[in-house]
This record gives sequence, structure tokens and C-alpha cells, in this order.
Amino acid sequence: MSEAADRSSNFIRGQIEADLAQHKHAQRHWAGRPGVADTQRQGALDTARIRTRFPPEPNGYLHVGHAKSICLNFGLARDYGGRCHMRFDDTNPVKEDQEYVDSILDAVRWLGFDWQDDQEDNLYYASDYFDQLYAFAESLVQAGHAYVDSQNAEQMRATRGTLTEPGTDSPYRSRSPDDNLRLLREMREGKHPEGSHILRAKIDMASPNMNLRDPALYRIRFAEHHRTGKRWCVYPMYDYAHPISDALENITHSICTLEFADHRPLYDWLLERLAEGGFFERPLPQQIEFARLNLTYAITSKRRLQELVQRDLVGGWDDPRMPTIVGLRRRGYTPASLQLFAERIGVSKADSWIDMSVLEQALRDDLEVSAARAVAVLDPLKLIITNYPEGASEPCSAPVHPQHPERGRREFPFSRELWIEREDFAEQAPKGFFRLFPGNRVRLRYGYVVQCTGFDKDAAGRITAVHAEYLADSKSGTPGADLYKVKGNIHWVSAAHAFAAEVRLYDRLYADPHPDAGGRDHVQSLNPDSLRVIEAQLEPSLAQAAPEDRFQFERHGYFVADRTQSTPGKPVFNRAVSLKDSWASGKSA
Ligand code: ATP
Ligand code: MG
Repeated sequence: MSEAADRSSNFIRGQIEADLAQHKHAQRHWAGRPGVADTQRQGALDTARIRTRFPPEPNGYLHVGHAKSICLNFGLARDYGGRCHMRFDDTNPVKEDQEYVDSILDAVRWLGFDWQDDQEDNLYYASDYFDQLYAFAESLVQAGHAYVDSQNAEQMRATRGTLTEPGTDSPYRSRSPDDNLRLLREMREGKHPEGSHILRAKIDMASPNMNLRDPALYRIRFAEHHRTGKRWCVYPMYDYAHPISDALENITHSICTLEFADHRPLYDWLLERLAEGGFFERPLPQQIEFARLNLTYAITSKRRLQELVQRDLVGGWDDPRMPTIVGLRRRGYTPASLQLFAERIGVSKADSWIDMSVLEQALRDDLEVSAARAVAVLDPLKLIITNYPEGASEPCSAPVHPQHPERGRREFPFSRELWIEREDFAEQAPKGFFRLFPGNRVRLRYGYVVQCTGFDKDAAGRITAVHAEYLADSKSGTPGADLYKVKGNIHWVSAAHAFAAEVRLYDRLYADPHPDAGGRDHVQSLNPDSLRVIEAQLEPSLAQAAPEDRFQFERHGYFVADRTQSTPGKPVFNRAVSLKDSWASGKSA
């Protein structure tokens, strides 16, 4: 099956297509902004055939798992003529921050998606609904669907029951709606300390689903919120705020990860009660769960990632080894590669692990097509062409991209002293070694055929230079050059023209595919060789590389000019991914 055909075959798409075929959502009205049924009815028929949303909590930087969710939600809206809302689930005042809001908006845009089009700007904050959420709480109280419980946390735990035993009703469960309303208002007015009262839904303390045993809806918190300041001292619970936010925004398909499957009955219960109250029209938003991304050799939990940052085990949230979107970006990942990755892994209803190599391959497949080629010598050894005149040089040229001649050619000089890779020379050639060794001929890629005539060693026995003679009629691209049949073909740069640059050879952050398996501390699994910094000799044109320019360094892999540490004329390069998967063969790159 082609990748495009594959895309149309997951169960979420199946559900959406069935809903569209039945015109399930076709009669919804949209007033151009979130609101209750009365507001929405004043608008025209909703031009968005479906509405999805991406609802992060602004309490950290997004990671590759979020990228999956972004591609899924925005991708579905794009593919089905819908819209995807960007919503901050910022109902928990203590952990949230504007810094995270900004970085999340940046990440979504960078991935290639937008919540804004020429008609609508669908950027929302759950905290903008605080008034509405609170008003609904009063309505639920008045309708007898919610009550103020004054048990302490300990008592609430004790009466909640277990997975096998039902809970027992709180002594406050039978409070009159009037008493509940008075208490709720006092809670909001700051008359009661934290933990003294809590608003709960009145559902069923004996339900086999623990989430339906009178779940908490509102709690007292004397905390300053990053957007509403000190205006509130009661804050809604996630399970209360989320379905209501969806309904206010006309969301049709509310896609979330599997751990919320058990919360779906509560999601539906709340919206049904509010629909009965006339606040929302049917059909109500539908929650659909999919398996979260688990990626081998990585951690996808904001809390653990934060630990790496706080303990200085990485250089920050955007360290190129981090699976954060900012980290992947600095590493050299492209938006297209992450979209391709999300498409390839698809969505499923069962938890599983995706191998890191799938992510890496998506990047290779994108950069193979798009990245310009260049030459870098990572472990330089001098090669002296003894029969080439001193001080002379001449241009050689190579395609910018071998499959795209229209992208033109690049030029670089050939001269008497060159840098080659240390591993491309052997004093004594092992079997099957076709590169340079005394007496052997190789082609210097895009240049001449040379024959090795000798080498120099220092007192410690280390090779310090290799000597060779070039064959003047063998230059690549000139008539007769093909007559030379040599097995080795090595890359090089001219020593006088190349420039030295810092190159970071990144590898996987963890050495273990499941860094925290069995409750182990993930820090124990860190790969000690995840970063090697070297000074390489680079093709002269690379000095002009702009931050985030990506290249294939021939024979070495894909590299990107670091977006934060490159300076004009002095780029620093990060290895994004090697040319081949070296982990599959068991050896580290
Ligand atoms: P974390 O556990 O890392 O803090 P989270 O789920 O608490 O993640 P949110 O900010 O609540 O983070 O997530 C925003 C959206 O991203 C949610 O809809 C959530 O389902 C989705 N999401 C988070 N992690 C993953 C993942 N690993 N795979 C797929 N989707 C994810
Ligand atoms: Mg969360």
C-alpha cells in the first residue's frame, strides 16, 4: 500500500468518514467564536466540516509524542475540510507559564500547521472559559447534579472504594441545592481554606468505573494564574473543563490518548447534563482515544525531560539529543520528516513501541531528496601530492545534488596539500581495503587519480602525512578520465582552502531501548557517547551556510548548521543522522 493510501485507513479516519457520510455534524451553527447553544445558533451553518483541537497544558516544552498529536489533529482537519483549534489547557494555575505558551505556538507553526486562516483565528485558552465553567457549575448544583463535599482528602480517599469494592456516599451528598449553591459561592469568594470543600458531580459511588464515583469538578486553590492573575481561588478540574471547552468550541472529534478511555463516560455524562440544561446542542463532541507514541531510546514525559534539564545532563530543552520539538529542530529534523514519521506510524488502539530507527529513517528519506551535498573531512590526515606544483590550484566541481542537475554545481579547489580521512589510509592494507596504501591508486572524488608513494610518521608511530603522485590526464569529467579503473574513491578538501569548524557527532541519548523499564531510573541508561565534539575540515562553500541549512556530508551522513550557535561565516554543524542505521548492525556510529 502506498503511504498516501495507508493514511486513509486508520480507525479515526473511518469514524470521521462515517460521520460525514451521515451528515452527522452538518446542521451545526458557528457564531465565529466559542459559546453556548444560544450563541452558536446566531451564526451561520458551520463551514468547518469537522473541528478537532490540539490541547496542550503549557507546563513544558512539547516532545515528539505531541508532534504525533499535532500532525494527527491538524492533519485530519486539513484532509476533511475542517479546522483544528489550538487550545491551551491552562486550568491548573501552579505549573503553567507564558514561556511554555510561546514555545508551543512556535512548535506548532514550525511543524507546518496553523490555527488561523483567512476567516478564523482559533487560538483559545481554557482559562478564558473560567466564567462560563463556573456558571455551569452553579447550574449543575441547582439541577441537583453536583454538591459541595466537606470531607477532607483523607476521608474522601477512604470512602472512594477500590477497583473491587464500591465506594460509600459522603455524608454531605444529600445537602440541598440551596446549601450547595451558598457554599460554592463562598468557595469562590475565598471564604474557605484550600482543602476544606470541593465541588463533586453527583453520579454513582458504586460505579465500577472509579471516574464516575462522584468526581471532583472544582477545588479551592489560592494561586495566581499566568493569565487570570488572582481573580480566582477556585479552579476547575481537567475532567470538567475539557469536555466543556470542546463543546463551547464546536469540536466534533475530540482525540486524546488511551489513558482517557476510562474518563469518556464522565466526558459524556457532563455534556449530556449540560445539553439537558439547554446549554449545548446535539450531536455533542465525541471523544476518541488512540495509543500514545512510545519511542525506543527516548523518553516522552515532560517531567522526566525536565529532570534531564534541571540536572544539567543535557544542555537544555533544545539540546539536539532531546526528543523535544525544539531539540529535534536543532538536531536537524525537518517539519516534513516529522510529518512523514507521523504518517508512517499511523494511529492504533493498542499501546506499542515505535523504534527510534523509524524516526531516523523518516529524516534520511526527507534529506536524501532535499539536502545539498558537501564534503567534510571529520578526522583529517594530510595528503601531499608531490608532483603537483607548490602554490598552484585549479577548480573541481560536483553536483549540488546528484539526482537534481537543475540545482547546479558547486566548485572547490584542488591543490598540492589536501585533507583526507585518516581511515582512508592504511600502512598495511587489510583484505578488501581499496583505499590508499603504499603503491595503490584511488580516485580523489571529482578530482584526479593518485598513486600512494609513501608516508611520514612521528616518533610515537602515528601517521602524520601521506605522499602521492597524481596522474595529470585522469581528472574527473575530462576525456579519457574513465580509462583509469580504480576501486577506491575517497573524499578530500584542499588544505589551503578548507576551513576548520566544530562538528558535533550526536548519537542516541540513551543506550537502552527502554530507558525506564521496570521502574529503573532513566538516568542510568544514558548513552555516555551521545555527543562527540570534533574539529573537521570542510569544503570552502560551507562557510556560507546559514543557520538550519542542511547538507549531506558525503559518506558521513546528514548535518545541519546549528541554529543557535552558528555565527556569520562560522557555522557549527550538528550531525542529524548517519547515512545508514548503525544501531541495527549492533555497533555505535
Ligand atoms: P506529558 O505526559 O509529557 O506531560 P501530557 O499528555 O501531559 O504529556 P499535554 O500537554 O496534556 O501533555 O498533551 C497535549 C496533547 O498531546 C494531548 O492531547 C495528549 O494526548 C497529546 N500527547 C501527549 N503525549 C503524547 C504521546 N506520547 N503520544 C501522542 N500524543 C501525546
Ligand atoms: Mg498532561
